Amino acid sequence: MPYAARIEPGTRVRLQDHDPADTAGLDKESGKARFAELNAELDEIQEELHAAGTHSVLMILQGMDTSGKDGAIRGVMHNLNPQGVRVESFKVPTDQELAHDFLWRIHRAAPPRGQFGIFNRSHYEDVLVVRVHELAPEKVWRARYEHINRFEALLADSGTLIFKFFLHISKDEQEKRLHAREQDVAKAWKLSAGDWRERELWDRYQEAYEDALSRCSTQAAPWYVVPADRKWFRNLAITEALVERLRGCREHWRDALEEMSRLKLAELEAYRTLRDDSSR
Ligand code: ADP
Repeated sequence: MPYAARIEPGTRVRLQDHDPADTAGLDKESGKARFAELNAELDEIQEELHAAGTHSVLMILQGMDTSGKDGAIRGVMHNLNPQGVRVESFKVPTDQELAHDFLWRIHRAAPPRGQFGIFNRSHYEDVLVVRVHELAPEKVWRARYEHINRFEALLADSGTLIFKFFLHISKDEQEKRLHAREQDVAKAWKLSAGDWRERELWDRYQEAYEDALSRCSTQAAPWYVVPADRKWFRNLAITEALVERLRGCREHWRDALEEMSRLKLAELEAYRTLRDDSSR
């Protein structure tokens, strides 16, 4: 069984059926050892993705406050070559962004071929915070599920391999993490009264997430529910999902790289022959 649950298109997601504290029976030590193996493979995969330049990867991270989006980026990406990785964080839209359609700022940030792009929050905020806080009429945000599916299909058809991870934490774990920030002076900079206010809307957010995950999980752009109460397991589950799917592309990338090598060698040989001929 994979560690993160991949949502089959058309299934109705009920978050209460997914245990945020799940560790698939692993203890922390064996989980970390497995993570190290998979992370080393992810490193190789990224090198090939970057060099072959035929595809891009887009990893979208969503989750309640304190669910560990930043930690997952640090943990999963720490071995990767920074030249091929770009993180985009989506905040409250600016006036200029609001003057465009909701996907405008997202599309500009989509990774080009060869790049591994990470979205820390994303266009899903436009059916999450916007829905919960009634920032747009229902008619507007309801139409967005279909817009999102079509947009992601366009990216996928253009060579983007899409992964959408919902970091699933329990309400109790969130409370612990918010209190921990207060107690640790080194982490207090992360504090925000807004996090406590948002927490009061927990059920409405869960409902909005269930809808987004149910309506927008497609074959080309699946959602994964990641048990995120244990940080080490969260990182393991994300890495496993990435490696399991991307492994299938490695042969294609290696073929592309071999072809590139052949062309370069032939070019070099042609140059030398020409040089030797003209110096005779
Ligand atoms: P984070 O919590 O991700 O570390 P911030 O504290 O800066 O970073 O939070 C970013 C805020 O921007 C979140 O409250 C999020 O809901 C909000 N946001 C992101 N996208 C949108 C959007 N499209 N509409 C309204 N608010 C948004």
